[in-house]
Amino acid sequence: MKIRTKIALQFSLIVGMILIVAFGSIYFLLEENRKVEFYKRLKNRALTTARLLVEVKKIDRRLMKKIDQKTFTELYAEKVLMFDEDDNLVYASIDAKTIYYNAEFLAEVWKKGYVQTNLEGNDLIGTKFKDEKGKNFVVIASATDTFGKMQLENIKASLTLVLLLGFFLTILLGIIFAGQSLRPLAVMNQEIKKITAYNLKQRLNESNKQDEVAQLAINFNKMLQRLEQSFELQRSFVSNASHELRTPLAAIKSEIQVSLEKNRSEEDYQKILESLLADTQRLIQLSNGLLQLAQSESKEKTMLIQPLRVDELLFLIQEEITLQNSNYQVVIDFDQIPESDSSVTVNANEALLKIVFSNLIDNACKYSANKKAQILIGFGDKYCTILVKDKGIGIPEDEIKKIFEPFYRANNATSFKGHGIGLSVCRRIVDMFQGTIEVQSQIGAGSDFFVQIPHLG
Ligand code: ADP
Repeated sequence: MKIRTKIALQFSLIVGMILIVAFGSIYFLLEENRKVEFYKRLKNRALTTARLLVEVKKIDRRLMKKIDQKTFTELYAEKVLMFDEDDNLVYASIDAKTIYYNAEFLAEVWKKGYVQTNLEGNDLIGTKFKDEKGKNFVVIASATDTFGKMQLENIKASLTLVLLLGFFLTILLGIIFAGQSLRPLAVMNQEIKKITAYNLKQRLNESNKQDEVAQLAINFNKMLQRLEQSFELQRSFVSNASHELRTPLAAIKSEIQVSLEKNRSEEDYQKILESLLADTQRLIQLSNGLLQLAQSESKEKTMLIQPLRVDELLFLIQEEITLQNSNYQVVIDFDQIPESDSSVTVNANEALLKIVFSNLIDNACKYSANKKAQILIGFGDKYCTILVKDKGIGIPEDEIKKIFEPFYRANNATSFKGHGIGLSVCRRIVDMFQGTIEVQSQIGAGSDFFVQIPHLG
C-alpha cells in the first residue's frame, strides 16, 4: 500500500472514530434527556388527573375520561389508572385498552411512593397521591413518546449521514493533502533514479532547506559528496599505484634491453644484475606498502586486538631496524617513568602497530643526515604518547597536511627513495585504534611525529 493511501486511511479512521464518539455521546445525551422529560410529563399528567378527580368535586369521571381522550395529542396513547388503598380500581381513563401493569408493580409504588419503568415495551410510571382528607391513592400512567422518539430517530439519521459524509470527505481530503505533502518525495525519487556512478556530481534539489524532505535531500547530497570523494580517491589511488609500479618496471625493462644490445663483459653483467636487484627491491617495497594499505583496510573486522606494551614493541622495532640498516641509530627514552604497566599498555593489533612505528622510525632515519631517530614515550590521563623525533630535512610548511595522503611526497624528499604510502598507512591504522597522529616540522631543522593511543590505565 502506498504511503499516501496509508496516511489518508489512518487520518480518516481517526477522524471517523472521533466523529462516532462525539455523535454517539450526543445521541445518548439526547435520549437520556428525552426519557427524563417524558417521565416528568407523564407524572405531571397522572397527578393532574388525580387532583381533578379527587379535589375538584364538580368534575365527574365520565367528563374526565372525555377530557383525557381529547388530549391524546399531548401524550400519545396516554392511559391513567387510579387505585384506592385496597388496590381497587377507582378510575380508568380508557376502557378498551388498559395499561399493562402487574401486582408487584403496584406493591412497589405503594412502598416507594414513585416508580418509573418500562414493562413489556410500555413506559410506565406509578405515583402515590394523597387527597385533602388524607386518603391515599396510587395513580399509574402510561403513554408512548411518539414525538420524542420520532425526533430522536430523525437526529440519528442526520448524525449517521453527517458521519458518513464526514468520513468520505476526510478520505478524499486525506488523499489530496497526503499526495501534496509527498510530492517532493516523488520528485526526489525521480532525481535519484538519474544518479549513477558516472554522474556522481549531480545533486538533489534542496528546495527550502528547512522541512524534513529538504533535510533528507541535504543529507543525501552530503552522502553523494562523500561517495564522489571516495570514488575520486580510489581513481587517483589506482592511477598513482600503477604509475609507481610502472616506473621501476620500465627501468628494469630498459636496463635489460640495453644489456642485450651487445655482448658484455662479466663485470658489466654483474653491475647490470646488481642494478636490477636494486630496482626489484624497490618494487618489493612498493608492493609491501600497497599490501599494508590493503590489509589495514580489510583487517579491521577480523584482526586480533590485545593489550600491548608500547615500550616493548618499540624496543623490538629498534632491534630489527638497526639490524637491517647498520648506519641507522634509534634511541628510546621515557618522558616520565610509568607508575603502572597499564599507562604504557594499549589495546591494539601488534602487527599493525608495528607497521606504524617502523614507518615513522624508518622515515626519521631516512630523511636525516645523521640517520638518527629519537623516541620519547610518555602518557597522560587517557593516552599513551609516542614522539618520533629527528633532526633531518624537515617538511615544507605548505605540504605538511598533504603528507598523509596516499602517494604524496614533499618536494624536498624526491631525492630519497620512497613511494609516499607509509604515512597514509600509519594514519589509517592509528585511526583504527581511536588514536591520533600529528606532525610538527621545520624545514632544515627536523620533524616531530606525535602518536597518541588510548592506554588501559
Ligand atoms: P615515503 O617516505 O615513502 O615517501 P611516507 O608516506 O612515509 O612515504 O612519507 C610521505 C612524505 O612525507 C615523504 O615523502 C616526505 O616528504 C615526508 N616525510 C615523512 N617523514 C618525514 C621525516 N621524518 N622528515 C621529513 N619528511 C618526512
